[in-house]
Amino acid sequence: MAGRRISTMLSRSLSLPSTVTSLGKKYGLRRGMQRFSSAAVVEEPIAPSVQVNHTKLFINGQFVDSASGKTFPTLDPRTGEVIAHVAEGDKEDVNRAVSAARKAFDEGPWPKMSAYERSRIMLRFADLVEKNIEELAQLETWDNGKPYLQALTSELPIFVRLFHYYAGWADKIHGLTVPADGPHHVQVLHEPIGVAGQIVPWNFPLLMFAWKVGPALACGNTIVLKTAEQTPLTALYVAKLFREAGLPDGVLNIVSGYGPTAGAALASHMDVDKIAFTGSTETGKVVLELAARSNLKPVTLELGGKSPFIVCEDADIDSAVEIAHFALFFNQGQCCCAGSRTFVHEKIYDEFIAKAKARALKRTVGDPFKKEIEQGPQIDSKQFQKVLGYIKSGIDSNATLECGGAQFGSKGYFIQPTVFSNVQDDMLIARDEIFGPVQSILKFKDIDEVIRRANATRYGLASGVFTSNIDTANTVSRGLRAGTVWVNCFDVFDAGIPFGGYKMSGIGREKGIYSLNNYLQVKAVVTALKNPAWL
Ligand code: ADP
Repeated sequence: MAGRRISTMLSRSLSLPSTVTSLGKKYGLRRGMQRFSSAAVVEEPIAPSVQVNHTKLFINGQFVDSASGKTFPTLDPRTGEVIAHVAEGDKEDVNRAVSAARKAFDEGPWPKMSAYERSRIMLRFADLVEKNIEELAQLETWDNGKPYLQALTSELPIFVRLFHYYAGWADKIHGLTVPADGPHHVQVLHEPIGVAGQIVPWNFPLLMFAWKVGPALACGNTIVLKTAEQTPLTALYVAKLFREAGLPDGVLNIVSGYGPTAGAALASHMDVDKIAFTGSTETGKVVLELAARSNLKPVTLELGGKSPFIVCEDADIDSAVEIAHFALFFNQGQCCCAGSRTFVHEKIYDEFIAKAKARALKRTVGDPFKKEIEQGPQIDSKQFQKVLGYIKSGIDSNATLECGGAQFGSKGYFIQPTVFSNVQDDMLIARDEIFGPVQSILKFKDIDEVIRRANATRYGLASGVFTSNIDTANTVSRGLRAGTVWVNCFDVFDAGIPFGGYKMSGIGREKGIYSLNNYLQVKAVVTALKNPAWL
């Protein structure tokens, strides 16, 4: 049944902790579930019970209005209706937030506090998130449109896991002593970099927050984070929890607002020591340029992708169909690492297409608060129109539309799960990041050919290969130019696994130990020794 499939996929592919499985049971994921066909009409939206209590900017430990007094609406993607009006931050608010972060770094307790105490605050915060997990998952679904059970049973537990992971690092970050050729004692200190500017996207508002805030805090930095204008609500909620956990004022500041105003002000700020960005490749270039033109702050970028998912002739077809489906359709197709070019060996191509189509037709689309729903709406009307435009381009370029291809229902931003076969490498749907529920299936003959074609893209974020032959798996894994290769799985995102892109998919890595390097400065302290004989 659909419910079992969701639960199995989430547990297997996202490598969830055991609490997740029990949450899944609690919420009836394993029970039999009603199915919705793609032709179903979206009913009246379910009203979430969570209250929206925080809509102001969070600066220096206080919720404050924007300097201009302006607000902007955040919308429910199920209907396009306003959830709340949120304070709109701009340059002056960014200045205020950076001053608070600067003071907390230069004078405040955070970098001077013992690493153990920092770790304890992060752990207290993680506990508070667990206590409020249902409200946070509701708010994430309401603002973003992602299935509630996905938020509740996978994303929030991973969020907590990430803070546990980075809290564990806080008191294990240390430098080195290195031998010198002369009479010198050489220490290499690993120090926090200072005020970190962080700009996050709307597709995983809380997870992207954790990927950035976790390592920055563990290393002793202070932060100004700009949320995406589509999804400002959950970061403000967790800001309150950080305050309750004892995070000193000014250590974490949240500015809601738009990219070209608040985002650009942060990226070009002279007093911000580092910028971390996740979003589109186009905006990533702008952020890099703003950083270079201001104070040359170091930049890490996690950008777009057009990830290949390669199904070899010896693969377990049913499992490959299911995971290829998940790799593309998960989160409404709104994943930078979505497996959006499904390459299938010619010998199994027809069978794969038939099964991939059948699976897409069974995908449950509708109100993401219903537990049987696998797919909610796209984030907003701009993305909705963009995805429909790509579908039209697929049809116009003579790819075969196997199923879907249109809006789902008549309200909000829902799109039918769409599958194209006979996709050619030069079609727009095979080259551009669609960021929607549109699977493009291509045919290949041999391994060298598919590696070459898979690499023929400006992106290099992630990839997948399905095979029962270890040699094929090794050949493909080493041949692909991508930051992640998933073998017989996809979207496995444990806290310790580094993530980031080759080529135009980004600069640097997040998660794991690699993320710490983004938030540390290296200082060499060389001390003359009076008595070299004691070296
Ligand atoms: P999308 O087009 O999918 O919304 P973006 O890459 O534009 O993705 O947005 C990701 C994040 O970057 C959001 O928080 C957005 O507000 C921010 N952003 C957009 N434009 C700029 C900009 N010029 N400078 C800094 N941040 C920006």
